[in-house]
Amino acid sequence: MEFKYDVRDLQFILKEWLPMEEVLACERFKENYSVDDIDMFLNEGYKVAREVVNPINAEGDKNGAKLENGVVTPAPGYKEAFRFIQENGWGSSSECIGIDGGMPLSMFKAIFEMNQAACPALLSYIKLTSGAANLIIRFGTDKERELFIPNMLSGEWQGTMCITEPNAGSDVGDSTARAYPTDDPRVWKIKGTKMFITAGDAGICDNTIHMVMARPEGGAAGSPGLGLYLVPKIWVNDDGSLGKENDIATVGIEHKMGLKAQATAMLNFGDNDECYGIMMGPAPDEKGRSRGLPMMFHMMNESRIGTGHNANTQAAASYYYASQFATERIQGRPFGERSGDRVPIIKHEDIRRMLLDMKANVEGIRAMTFKGFYYLDIQANSDDKEKAKKYGEIAEIFTPLVKCYGSEASLHVIAEAIQTLGGVGYTQEYPIEQYLRDSKILTIWEGTSYIHGNDLVGRKMRMKDGVPFANWFAIIKDFVADNKDNSGFEKEMKKLAKGCECVETIKKTYETWYDNLDEMKSLIPLYATKALFVCAYLQVAECLMEQALLAQAKIDELPDGAYERTFYQGKIASARYYINNVLPGAFALTDLVTAADTSVIDCPEEALVIT
Ligand SMILES: Cc1cc2nc3c(=O)[nH]c(=O)nc-3n(C[C@H](O)[C@H](O)[C@H](O)COP(=O)(O)OP(=O)(O)OC[C@H]3O[C@@H](n4cnc5c(N)ncnc54)[C@H](O)[C@@H]3O)c2cc1C
Repeated sequence: MEFKYDVRDLQFILKEWLPMEEVLACERFKENYSVDDIDMFLNEGYKVAREVVNPINAEGDKNGAKLENGVVTPAPGYKEAFRFIQENGWGSSSECIGIDGGMPLSMFKAIFEMNQAACPALLSYIKLTSGAANLIIRFGTDKERELFIPNMLSGEWQGTMCITEPNAGSDVGDSTARAYPTDDPRVWKIKGTKMFITAGDAGICDNTIHMVMARPEGGAAGSPGLGLYLVPKIWVNDDGSLGKENDIATVGIEHKMGLKAQATAMLNFGDNDECYGIMMGPAPDEKGRSRGLPMMFHMMNESRIGTGHNANTQAAASYYYASQFATERIQGRPFGERSGDRVPIIKHEDIRRMLLDMKANVEGIRAMTFKGFYYLDIQANSDDKEKAKKYGEIAEIFTPLVKCYGSEASLHVIAEAIQTLGGVGYTQEYPIEQYLRDSKILTIWEGTSYIHGNDLVGRKMRMKDGVPFANWFAIIKDFVADNKDNSGFEKEMKKLAKGCECVETIKKTYETWYDNLDEMKSLIPLYATKALFVCAYLQVAECLMEQALLAQAKIDELPDGAYERTFYQGKIASARYYINNVLPGAFALTDLVTAADTSVIDCPEEALVIT
């Protein structure tokens, strides 16, 4: 089947829906980009996705990355495709902050999205390199930027994020990796094991720049004591030449359900006491506190919103394959007819239901994600400091919604895409089953779904006296109030208003639980993910409704029979479907949260385990 992508929806987002003029007017972009460039970038990016990136996807799944005799061999074509993307400006050099010629995130991510959908296993290598480079740009010295960044942007070197350990997963603060001072205050000796490190040893670059969390000797307990260290696989001398190989051993690469071409390594740092790293940021203070985790959070937050985006790109690709198939596969006759011609399955109501369900979810989550990117663009680039701060805080609310809901909903979409194909969807002859395997990890890494539910109810709803959450919610409520009588959408606007009531109820319920911690403590984690879903359903529905109103205005201007009408009708259909069929999930979940059933808590632990 042919890899196809909905470039038109990306154009709609960037050229018709989001205020990209505002982003592109920022000092950093105004000489380099304009709205008129968007089509060219999207079309060229689509070409790269189809011609360079997608051809290695299925092959990589079959052959995978391999570790033999201590050496990792990448899947066929990975080294070349990685280099191509990085060298030609489709990767880190366009994504990194403060780089001349770097794009707005919202523009870059539209291109990245197509490449990610074309080959998810490859694109995390790019994402991690950008994230590691951004940490060095933010927290490194001029010298470190000079030594590391050019090679990381050009594709010579890649980057990783080394947090997880065999006994420290969700709870990063339990990390046992250590850093010991040397005579050079900048250089520390690193010792410890890191597990599940994406691109930890991928065999595609001359050097790998690991960003490692470790506790400096004498550091405080828990996450405040963790520091951040830049640990190159091969030491980089002060003149930029490569020095000695650092003491980092690849113990193994994981055999995984999906992303088989993406090397996920277990790494031992300092088995021979000869592993050196450069400390990022300030030295530990007198109480042994380092700034490692807050610094690493920059990389994690980029990756978190990126993870939800990643999931949605895979869901989108699956939907486009399923929609192609539905027009070609001939099976059955229209409902109630016993004779006559057999029809393509897209004629069947249930297939159309699945296609619209996939379309609405994909477009809605894409819209939510890009709104998040827009907020981040304003935060990072606007001269209006107050607005930048406010939007940055709203983006913090978006992060768990995009990460958790985006990744969970994508599994549903991809499963529906397989369902649309019937039996062949389950086979490896068709590309969709690979997406189901490749995307499952996205509900786990960068914090599991629960971790994000907890982040929303425990931190984001309450941080800064609840102001960022209130600002986030006010945008939705204002939109609903301003458009409640919009002719033709009354039913949908009523449902959105009900969705707002649900979020208010959830917020109040959680306030009550926090105010009565002694009796109600267990309810907070128990219902966290459900609470997040309520907020995400509403956010997605609101984005889709904004788009539908815009689409209606466009239709009103178009002559009958104009080609573009179909696209805009499709946008309206996505919004109506989501608001009438998916958003009510928020109503049901709100009932569940307020009912606060305690069967989970009451059930004896032993009854959950088979002996
Ligand atoms: C393919 C792959 C690539 C990865 N890439 C990287 C990488 O590049 N860098 C990196 O540092 N890590 C990486 N990881 C690790 C990943 O981020 C972790 O697997 C993830 O954070 C979960 O940690 P864990 O596996 O130890 O699970 P655990 O933390 O043991 O969690 C197990 C289950 O318990 C739940 N749980 C844990 N604590 C609590 C709690 N307090 N309350 C309620 N429930 C809880 C979790 O939600 C989960 O359902 C990768 C993992 C995989 C599989």
